[in-house]
Amino acid sequence: MAARTNWAGNVVYRASALARPSTVDELQQLVATTPRLTALGSRHSFSTIADTDADQVTLSDLPPLFEIDTDRRVVRVAAGSTHSQVAAGLEARGWALGNLASLPHISTAGAVATGTHGSGTRNPSLAQAVVGLDVVRADGSLARVDAATPDDALDVHRVALGALGVVTAVELAIEPTFHVATTVSLDLPWDAVLEHFDVVVADGYSVSLFTSFDDRGARQVWVKHRLGETAPTVDLVALGARPADGPVHPGENDPAGVTEQGGVPGPWSERLPHFRSSFTPSTGAEIQAEYLVPAGSAVAALQALRPLRSVFEPILIAAEVRTIAPDTAWLAPSSGRQSVGLHFTFRRDADAVAAAVERIEDVLAPFDPRPHWGKVAAMDPERLHAAYPRLSDFAAVARDLDPTGRFRNAYLARVLA
Ligand SMILES: Cc1cc2nc3c(=O)[nH]c(=O)nc-3n(C[C@H](O)[C@H](O)[C@H](O)COP(=O)(O)OP(=O)(O)OC[C@H]3O[C@@H](n4cnc5c(N)ncnc54)[C@H](O)[C@@H]3O)c2cc1C
Repeated sequence: MAARTNWAGNVVYRASALARPSTVDELQQLVATTPRLTALGSRHSFSTIADTDADQVTLSDLPPLFEIDTDRRVVRVAAGSTHSQVAAGLEARGWALGNLASLPHISTAGAVATGTHGSGTRNPSLAQAVVGLDVVRADGSLARVDAATPDDALDVHRVALGALGVVTAVELAIEPTFHVATTVSLDLPWDAVLEHFDVVVADGYSVSLFTSFDDRGARQVWVKHRLGETAPTVDLVALGARPADGPVHPGENDPAGVTEQGGVPGPWSERLPHFRSSFTPSTGAEIQAEYLVPAGSAVAALQALRPLRSVFEPILIAAEVRTIAPDTAWLAPSSGRQSVGLHFTFRRDADAVAAAVERIEDVLAPFDPRPHWGKVAAMDPERLHAAYPRLSDFAAVARDLDPTGRFRNAYLARVLA
């Protein structure tokens, strides 16, 4: 088998086989008869979470599934469906998800498994939208988990790192479709960012600040206004920014690949992701890291990061600051707290990124940072357990449901230790 990698190319999968069941029955047989295997989504994680030295399984050959229950306001989708597919199907029928990640090409199950989020002070992670799921357990049985399942099961499974089974179907809460208009401002000075942070990030349905930690401050502020809600009130130009005079890319790529800006209203599915589903958003030659801190610590955390500018300068493509509402999922990085995500897109220089990540973790340590499961981090298990108070409880559930470690890979063996 030719070497296979994640999307970014920074992880070469060591798996000896990639199984492609074409029915749920076949998947159940496979799980029951394979000593160790790891579910693979759309390969967008930068950490080794989807890697294994045993077998991998992809659900890409499973039959499509897309059913809307308008009474329950729920859509039931195949776990391997991408956000683009789900969003297009919903929008065509007049429905919407509450939020999306920056990239729509990511699989639903993979995004849910890692606590993937978009932005918005009122928007929790995508996993929080999960109201039910079907999962193939270690013994090959098919279980359904929803709010009625005892022992907080839904909150345990919403962000499960692939440790509790192979998810085959996901049910997500939906709402009537809505329109969003994205307006971008440039070069909001640091003084304004730090002094007015809370109002700036709350002045839209979804707000993102991009910075290089240099003198330009927030070199881009993306405000995604949901039509029908109060229009943004913060005058960013009065605070020292200037309006963008054309589309901008948050990194170094062609702005043709970003969703429409300039305040032009459009459907949620075409505005909430930063990148268009019809474009390959980047070469993939990047490595991402992200830490979620309590919202009240965000300004202090940003100030603490600024002196790392010289560390970032050779490798940082863009840092993005987003807000995330609290989740109930045990392992969501935003679990139980209003959060701010401090995200870094670095060039694909693994050694330099590893060194930078250690510096970031040292600087952020006083602010109780939680690393994103799908991105690179350096934290040892002891610090991870301190960051994620339910991690030991989760590990106990995983041992219970998967006593022989069928879904255990090196990543899980380390973090669930
Ligand atoms: C360009 C880019 C932009 C991104 N933007 C964002 C963003 O805006 N916000 C954010 O929070 N993150 C973002 N991410 C990170 C990304 O959302 C996560 O890494 C996510 O987990 C990737 O999903 P995937 O389908 O590729 O999963 P993979 O990387 O393939 O797998 C991730 C985990 O999901 C598990 N998994 C996958 N499928 C199943 C299944 N069927 N059953 C059980 N477990 C399963 C795997 O076992 C593994 O544990 C971005 C990543 C990239 C590359």
